[in-house]
Amino acid sequence: MATADTLVQTAELEIRGLHASVEGKEILKGIDLTVRQGETHALMGPNGSGKSTLANVLMGRPGYQVTSGEVVFKGEAILGLTPDQRAQRGLFLAMQYPVEVPGVSVVNFLRTAYKAIKGEEISALAFRKHMKEKMDLLGVEDDMVRRYVNQGFSGGEKKKNEILQLAVLAPQIAILDETDSGLDIDSLKAVATGVEKLIGPSLGVLVITHYQRILNYVHPDFVHVMMGGRIVKEGGPELARELEEKGYEGIRQEVGLSEEEAGRDDAGSGPARGES
Ligand code: ADP
Ligand code: MG
Repeated sequence: MATADTLVQTAELEIRGLHASVEGKEILKGIDLTVRQGETHALMGPNGSGKSTLANVLMGRPGYQVTSGEVVFKGEAILGLTPDQRAQRGLFLAMQYPVEVPGVSVVNFLRTAYKAIKGEEISALAFRKHMKEKMDLLGVEDDMVRRYVNQGFSGGEKKKNEILQLAVLAPQIAILDETDSGLDIDSLKAVATGVEKLIGPSLGVLVITHYQRILNYVHPDFVHVMMGGRIVKEGGPELARELEEKGYEGIRQEVGLSEEEAGRDDAGSGPARGES
């Protein structure tokens, strides 16, 4: 049942002046970014620019030290909350490298996650109905949800499973880190069109990607380019196309960052297109 809260308020994830380090090395050097329910944002950047660090800090993965700044979700500072607590409040993170959960089927995993996050009991029957609806929407086969989570899954199946999780858990804001990485073109298309189907007024998405190609299917309202732990350029969908033409190197020169400031991992690599 929709509460007054979900009807009236638009959930907002606000990142303010965020600095974070890993093992004493500063990776995030002041990130400001706001994602609202109903908006689709793309965060793009070369390898090593800090995209996954940002995703991990947002979800509260251990091993990251926030040195200044804050993250506010629906008016509440969340950096002191555990990943579970963040998920309960309506945040979702799809991992760049999904983990295997041996001995637990996808359907049981999802039902457990659903109960933990929503804090409500749901009968096996009611849950199956809810899940079936999402499976039909996304074209997920029965066979897949009976298998153990991610065990023996292809790259494409793992990502498809993540999108099913996203559909079933119905968060208000989702952070998808490299949902496109390592996928062949058919799997990419299946996963990306799945995400596109879930996008709507009740979901805000931050799509994190190195490559422009997922944006052929998932159409962002806002594009942010990250380099060397900073957002160096922002715009609308046209910025993704500009990036495809100029490459990260072109953007780096345009914004006047030195190669060192941009992070040397692959600042010199070519256009932000998909691998062939
Ligand atoms: P991206 O996702 O944009 O490729 P990352 O956030 O993964 O970038 O990495 C940003 C920088 O942080 C890189 O220089 C990387 O080597 C460093 N880094 C990330 N995670 C760790 C870690 N656990 N230990 C040490 N260095 C790390
Ligand atoms: Mg990454």
